Amino acid sequence: STPVATFCALLTAARMGLLVKGGDVLESLGEIKAVAFDKTGTITRGEFTVDIFDVVGHKVQMSQLLYWISSIESKSSHPMAAALVEYAQSKSIEPKPECVAEFRILPGEGIYGEIDGKRIYVGNKRVLARASSCQTAVPERMNGLKGVSIGYVICDGDLVGVFSLSDDCRTGAAEAIRELASMGISSVLLTGDSAEAAVHAQERLGGALEELHSELFPEDKVRLVSAVKARVGPTMMVGDGMNDAPALAMADVGVSMGISGSAAAMETSHATLMSSDILRVPEAVRLGRRACRTIA
Ligand code: ADP
Ligand code: MG
Repeated sequence: STPVATFCALLTAARMGLLVKGGDVLESLGEIKAVAFDKTGTITRGEFTVDIFDVVGHKVQMSQLLYWISSIESKSSHPMAAALVEYAQSKSIEPKPECVAEFRILPGEGIYGEIDGKRIYVGNKRVLARASSCQTAVPERMNGLKGVSIGYVICDGDLVGVFSLSDDCRTGAAEAIRELASMGISSVLLTGDSAEAAVHAQERLGGALEELHSELFPEDKVRLVSAVKARVGPTMMVGDGMNDAPALAMADVGVSMGISGSAAAMETSHATLMSSDILRVPEAVRLGRRACRTIA
């Protein structure tokens, strides 16, 4: 392999907005047979809007509930957190992160925080199952909602709030996946979000994805990446590092989303996409293939 050819290919990659950590990564890029995409913040923009926010029961008032969850969420860097903080602010409620006594992230589930002496969980139905003691009924209007992520707020064991959030697919996501398919590369979706949200994304992508895996914990994403590697061949994982940094490390080529992604993701990944243009993914594989031919 000639150092000059490798250098030129790395430079070309950098010009198109892909920072590749070395010549060996370039070679691996050319050999990719499958791509595992994270959903939130990778296939989708990671810019949620709150569509519904309801108080459940009579234990708390709306303004208090919004104050609690926005204060706790202001300590999280999850894309849903920003939407909830903004929603509270749109109702003139400012978060007070300094009033949160204890804070924990529950990967793939949500968050936990203590505020005003209350123990509060915010997250998906796994959080609901884990944190709520009684079977408080989820309001009727939350059933049968299509294409949204549903969140629950549990205060001292009681369900006190429900909300729904939605997020759009990135422009070019469907095209990127179709291009990969035309190159003989299959694409799968790995998400910590619900099955409904995964199916909705697939519908928006015109059914381009070959497999959907939902309700995953970070360790499930690692397991699935290694399963795809064993079954299909060299595998790329593209993610924003929210609960997928270990899966990025497990992939033959882990690509982190540089703009929306976390610092941890940039560290464990083999390459970083410096724009939100997902079409760079097939382009990178093409570059890798060309580089391999030139280098070999
Ligand atoms: P993805 O794999 O699609 O990026 P995540 O693993 O980041 O999803 O999150 C999985 C699910 O956990 C989310 O869909 C959401 O329901 C819940 N969740 C995670 N973090 C938060 C948070 N800060 N606030 C509310 N819900 C959260
Ligand atoms: Mg994500």
